[in-house]
Amino acid sequence: MKDSNFDENMTIGAAAASLQKPDLRSMDLDDLTGVMERMGEKPFRASQLFDWLHHRLAESPDDMNNLPKALREKLKAEYHCVPLKTVRVKESALDGTRKYLLELGDNNVIECVRMEYEDWSSVCISSQVGCAMGCRFCASTLDGCVRNLTAGEMLEEVYAISRAGDKRISNVVVMGSGEPLLNLDNLLKFIRLLTHEKGLNLSQRGITVSTCGIVPGIYALAEEKLGITLAISLHAADDETRKSLMPVASTYSLKDLMTACRDYFHKTGRRLSFEYALIDGVNDREIDAERLSKLIRGMKAHVNLIPVNPVKERNFQRSSPDSIRKFKTKLEKNGINVTIRRELGRDIDGSCGQLRRTYMEDSDKC
Ligand code: SAH
Repeated sequence: MKDSNFDENMTIGAAAASLQKPDLRSMDLDDLTGVMERMGEKPFRASQLFDWLHHRLAESPDDMNNLPKALREKLKAEYHCVPLKTVRVKESALDGTRKYLLELGDNNVIECVRMEYEDWSSVCISSQVGCAMGCRFCASTLDGCVRNLTAGEMLEEVYAISRAGDKRISNVVVMGSGEPLLNLDNLLKFIRLLTHEKGLNLSQRGITVSTCGIVPGIYALAEEKLGITLAISLHAADDETRKSLMPVASTYSLKDLMTACRDYFHKTGRRLSFEYALIDGVNDREIDAERLSKLIRGMKAHVNLIPVNPVKERNFQRSSPDSIRKFKTKLEKNGINVTIRRELGRDIDGSCGQLRRTYMEDSDKC
């Protein structure tokens, strides 16, 4: 992957979105005020519309009963505002985690996940249809990237889950299919709307964005000085092993990646999170733990160890419980903040992109 891919990927979404009517759910209050002005309506109508779209989570202008009927009809005729269709839901018998498969206006499908806690839920959303990054252990990337999701489509993943449940959503993690930093404009719009005080009003602290390490994207995100958590999918602490797992490592070296991470911390003051999927015999040896410690020593950071989720198209095996424990102990001895990620939804195509893939395979068979 070259630097130029960064821009090429940014245009995928624009092309797909231009085929549709403008999406009301992707618009901020200023955009909606412009819509109302063009329609000859009073500006307060924009606030009412915003409330319906992002607070009351209306599924159609038909539901917006404090707007005049003629205005609702005009909105329906000229703008796109339909919820994503839920085509499959799988619930884990082990822990109540639910995976939703949602259909977009152009018939593509994406997946998102709801994780249940005592009195709140966390939602994991996709940022693209598929993924172009090619990480060897990941199911999302097996068919490449179809297009970027719009801000409204990302919001609709959260809203679909909010409508379907009764618990407050307090955390949103952008860790589903896709590379969010290759869809940065839409991601930023999504974050602003999700945290808008007149919308669901999520705290920025409740949002985590995960990247495979798109260095220019990390610098660009740092400039926004958001209070979100940035998670870096590291998975190896030396360039050679990382290149063998993640093609993106051939474009951005670990040295450049870590410099960008330090800049991110410097600009935002936010502690970074490093994701590290443990793969048997590949990145789980003592020397790997030593290298990882050296790489992040002195940084305000946290390491999340994830026993790799085996994907049937790949032959990676997860590390043994003993190797995982030893790896964690080594990091702790070296003063690194580390946890082993609690696995949720193991019985429901748990890993990134697996449910979508199973669904597409089933559809192919029909
Ligand atoms: N493109 C982004 C976000 C999507 S992937 C990124 O790379 O961070 C979300 C996380 O799931 C990443 O850390 C990714 O490396 C991890 N992941 C993907 N497939 C996995 C698997 N089979 N087992 C464990 N983690 C996996």
